[in-house]
Amino acid sequence: MSGKVELTIKFLVVGGGIAGLACAIALRRVGHRVVVLEQYSDADISKMSHGGIRLPPNVSKILFHWGLEHALRKVSITSTAMEVEIYETGEFIGTHQWEEEVLRETGGEFLFLHHVGLRKVLYDAAIAAGAEVRAGATVVSVSGDGPHVTLTTGETLLADVIVGADGRSSVVQHAIVGKDVLSATPYQCLFYNTTVPGALMRADPQLAHFFKQPVETMFVWMGNNRAAVAYRMGGKDEFALHLWVPPRQKGLSDDDCWGGGLDLKEMRRQLGECEPRLLKLTQLAATPARVQVKMVPPIEDWVDAHGRMVIIGEAAHPLPAGSLQGGAMAVEDAAVFAKLFSHLRDKDQISSFLHAFQDLREDRCASVVHTEQCNLYFQMMPAGPQQEQRDQDMRAKTAQGENVFGGGEASEQWDQLRELCCYEAEDEADDWWVKWGLLRERAKQRSLDMEAEMNIARLSSLRLRA
Ligand SMILES: Cc1cc2nc3c(=O)[nH]c(=O)nc-3n(C[C@H](O)[C@H](O)[C@H](O)COP(=O)(O)OP(=O)(O)OC[C@H]3O[C@@H](n4cnc5c(N)ncnc54)[C@H](O)[C@@H]3O)c2cc1C
Repeated sequence: MSGKVELTIKFLVVGGGIAGLACAIALRRVGHRVVVLEQYSDADISKMSHGGIRLPPNVSKILFHWGLEHALRKVSITSTAMEVEIYETGEFIGTHQWEEEVLRETGGEFLFLHHVGLRKVLYDAAIAAGAEVRAGATVVSVSGDGPHVTLTTGETLLADVIVGADGRSSVVQHAIVGKDVLSATPYQCLFYNTTVPGALMRADPQLAHFFKQPVETMFVWMGNNRAAVAYRMGGKDEFALHLWVPPRQKGLSDDDCWGGGLDLKEMRRQLGECEPRLLKLTQLAATPARVQVKMVPPIEDWVDAHGRMVIIGEAAHPLPAGSLQGGAMAVEDAAVFAKLFSHLRDKDQISSFLHAFQDLREDRCASVVHTEQCNLYFQMMPAGPQQEQRDQDMRAKTAQGENVFGGGEASEQWDQLRELCCYEAEDEADDWWVKWGLLRERAKQRSLDMEAEMNIARLSSLRLRA
């Protein structure tokens, strides 16, 4: 544990995904009591979660700092390069090597791993840190008034603070905002998430290319309203495959679930015109999951009117499915949240800490969500003059022996990445405490002192009169 908090309180965290488990670890590190309520059993989650997740440097450095480097290295690989091709033709456009200098500046690494592997690392760490994680506990209602949650079983649990880490379709968000923000937002495209066994790929001469490249290379296909990403993951001999495609025909229900179990044929039908290696990859893939990609506008209120309930992770700032920063924003939230609550001395501070959390995080998250939306658009830009310019710029870089995101228009993307990844989540919370938190404490203390002085003066004048 890092520095012990002066006042220990109880947190109920709704949702045992990446945000919920990271929040449990971070809060336990400073000494608070934490119970995580997760609707699914571990076995169910292992079945539902069978895709890859990318952890950019801004998150890997937090997890390393929490002592999880060894556990993460066992299940991940470190990516150092990216190869870009055209989705429809397979034309090689160029490569981008993550520059050592930029990576050093960020203080972290790009890690690629299975989503289930990441969840297990976080789950084990949360348990080892002393958090209680209750599986099969589905929350049906929450309230910040005498903070409590009710489960499907009718059981009611009390806490000092309720943290909604229950994903983009969130009971806690609904209770705070008063409506289902996700359902109210139309979807732009579909995201298919699956894996491909490495052994099957190696057996196919057309797919051998992926193994000739260094193990750390990520492959990106840019298409006309379509995009794909494939990368090797740690732990098992498998590739992750992410696909973004237009919605299906009108009238077909594009349900929305990370759970997988879809018919492979459906994913293949959605591929459209694509290069033969991508087609092959989808023929060898495991059953995919399909998730709707939504550009959800920023959610205004993260804290309830009683100042005892808050949303974090995708519940507070849903990202387009498959975003590079999806898991990262969840862990950054957890780090900032726990840093603020490491200064707790009095329950009166709870509400101001929850509001400070939103103040500290909302601009950063809104800007990351916007960047992810732009990156997705950049990757799946509709055919036309803008797309031709994009490809020409990258071809020109390659011809000059440069990185595809190494300069010109495309370098904006790389500058954004540098800005995103150098962010120090915990320092932001420390800065807030030094600039505002302590100031408020001192102001509070001064007003208490003044009140005490006035009471003494009142008493003395009463005594004199008597
Ligand atoms: C099963 C699953 C598999 C995923 N697989 C991938 C993947 O392969 N690649 C990828 O990039 N992203 C994946 N994601 C998304 C990714 O986890 C998120 O984008 C990101 O990490 C932020 O996570 P979060 O914790 O805020 O939300 P989520 O990851 O959505 O976690 C929310 C958690 O809350 C639980 N929950 C929801 N409602 C309730 C309730 N009422 N009571 C109790 N518990 C509740 C959910 O079961 C879930 O475990 C997956 C998400 C899930 C849920």
